[in-house]
Amino acid sequence: MAITDKIYLKNHRQIASQLETSIPKSAFSGATLDLLFQGEQLSKLDEATQERVLDFATDFLDCDCESNPYCGHPERKFVSYLLDLRAQGLGPDAIVDVMGDDYMLYAYSGDVLSFLDDSVRSLEAIEELADVDGRKEAAEAARERRRDLSG
Ligand SMILES: [Zn+2]
Repeated sequence: MAITDKIYLKNHRQIASQLETSIPKSAFSGATLDLLFQGEQLSKLDEATQERVLDFATDFLDCDCESNPYCGHPERKFVSYLLDLRAQGLGPDAIVDVMGDDYMLYAYSGDVLSFLDDSVRSLEAIEELADVDGRKEAAEAARERRRDLSG
């Protein structure tokens, strides 16, 4: 499972009761995205929640793809968001706190930790492949990114 399958709405119950419907806990599930980003639904939410939902839409659902939000960009952008927080020196617990403040989302810090470990391992693999192929720039880019993530 991708990390984006393990990102949840922090105030899930509250949102469900404001929308007067059941809604999946998972933030990136299709049903959640559909429910939250239909204009009329949004207006049922309290102001603080609306703001976070709109921030989330602006930051992750802003591409022009016809299949938005199912084009894969929202998930990829969220992964970069997590990696950037890590590159700023944040650990898994702090990353969970920040996504809560920014978007009212939460994840288990153990899931964030294994996501970060996996990312470092993929970068190592990219680095080795690029070294073998003699692609120095690609290898160096992966190396730098890995150093950022290793904090
Ligand atoms: Zn897209």
